[in-house]
Amino acid sequence: MPELFIGGTWRSALDERTREIHCPADGTLVAVVDEAGGKDTVEAIAAARRAFDEGPWPTVPAAERGALLLRVADLLQRDKEAMARAESLDTGKRLVESVYDIDDVTACFRYYGRLAAADAGRVIDTGNPEADSRVVYEPVGVCALITPWNYPLLQTAWKVAPALAAGNTFVLKPSELTPHTAIHLVRLLEEAGLPAGVANLVLGAGPEAGAPLADHPDVDMVSFTGGIHTGRRLMATAAGTVKKVALELGGKNPNIVFADADFETAVDMALTAVFLHSGQVCSAGARLLVEDSLHDRFVDEVVRRAQLIRLGGPFDENAQTGALISAQHLGKVEAYVAAGLAEGAVLRCGGARPTGDPALENGFFYLPTVLDECRADMSVIQEESFGPVLTVERFTDEADAVRLANDTIYGLAGAVWTTDQARAQRVVSKLRIGTIWINDYHPYVPQAEWGGFKQSGFGRELGPTGLAEYQEPKHIWRNTNPVPQGWFS
Ligand code: NAD
Repeated sequence: MPELFIGGTWRSALDERTREIHCPADGTLVAVVDEAGGKDTVEAIAAARRAFDEGPWPTVPAAERGALLLRVADLLQRDKEAMARAESLDTGKRLVESVYDIDDVTACFRYYGRLAAADAGRVIDTGNPEADSRVVYEPVGVCALITPWNYPLLQTAWKVAPALAAGNTFVLKPSELTPHTAIHLVRLLEEAGLPAGVANLVLGAGPEAGAPLADHPDVDMVSFTGGIHTGRRLMATAAGTVKKVALELGGKNPNIVFADADFETAVDMALTAVFLHSGQVCSAGARLLVEDSLHDRFVDEVVRRAQLIRLGGPFDENAQTGALISAQHLGKVEAYVAAGLAEGAVLRCGGARPTGDPALENGFFYLPTVLDECRADMSVIQEESFGPVLTVERFTDEADAVRLANDTIYGLAGAVWTTDQARAQRVVSKLRIGTIWINDYHPYVPQAEWGGFKQSGFGRELGPTGLAEYQEPKHIWRNTNPVPQGWFS
């Protein structure tokens, strides 16, 4: 069955190109999918434009739009097993993690399903009994939704659910490496009764299938999650037609551990913070900042346990984390570690591909790695590895911890570990970061905003702000007694 969805029709690419999708854990062929080019994307944009300008969706009552999202949530639960399996085959991540992801995706659809009709706008007191004023929220229009490969369906849901709740139409372009759950989601939208042309799906490489999304005059908004270099390029291109832009980019996230932290929990969570999904998490706590007096004991224990982490494929029940997404990404992580070592970082564990396990031979695996004695001016501290690599820096006191944590172009996420709540609060208030955990790492809920400060991007996903991204406020002033003012004679 063809996999591009344009104007309510499933079809193949105009030039009939296809792409092989291989599982990163063992190289097996998952499927061959259609590969769109720029011409397919231009057609998808036209379909979304027509559906917005002429179709019913933008003016469907918000409560009905919400009801459709709630139906999709039920369908996601119905198909959970198949979707989780597809996500694991595309990404190589453990099945159990994909199952969590589908539950999170469902929660996102439920949240925006309920929020869709919650806010009908504002009535404003004009101070004039013969004039009334109100602000209503209208959809932005045609939205380009561009998503990455690390949490393919989750990142898609964070965009698709609020975009539909607000009444937009869209063209979705998932990562070319992980298309299957996006295809499945679009089928569920169709099954739930979404009108033709509202959801359009193009699969393919960024520079080809994705390129028209940022410069086409019929696209009103680009919402992008991905790397900083692509984000900068898209923002520059979108400036040509003054599109609304929302960017969710990378992070270099500090995990700050004070000497008074609960040792057991802080060690346990330092590992989870960075090695979950082999570090391919935008909010990964890849930068351990540890108080000088605690450094040796803490890092020794982190290193000991990092060496015990079991790698494996999606369906290996003994595995604790999986492969990297591609050979190219594995090469990038290797180059990142090599640069850190050349700059003087101390390799405490990992730093290589695993050897001796035939089950791992055909996958893109990299051992959990700890680089100690790093300094803020090293490339490994300033750049994102997006792999299973923990860098360690020492700090002397609270002010030093805050200074180091903020010494980065990024500001996505981070954590503070201390039993002194007043100190936690002081530190949190000084960090230029979008999500901060106190004595925890990674949890989030769809009700709370997600997004970055500084070059981690702008705009927010999730929460009420995540819906507002896809809305244009319109001010309507009505004079109930129009008479000449006589300003000019
Ligand atoms: P990427 O920038 O390479 O690709 C992201 C998407 O952009 C893909 O769909 C890709 O095909 C598309 N793309 C690439 N070039 C394009 C172009 N010229 N025009 C249009 N589309 C184009 O990123 P990636 O490697 O897929 O994802 C990893 C990055 O994503 C990491 O930096 C990570 O930190 C970031 N990320 C951020 C968040 C967040 O919430 N802030 C979440 C997940 C991932």
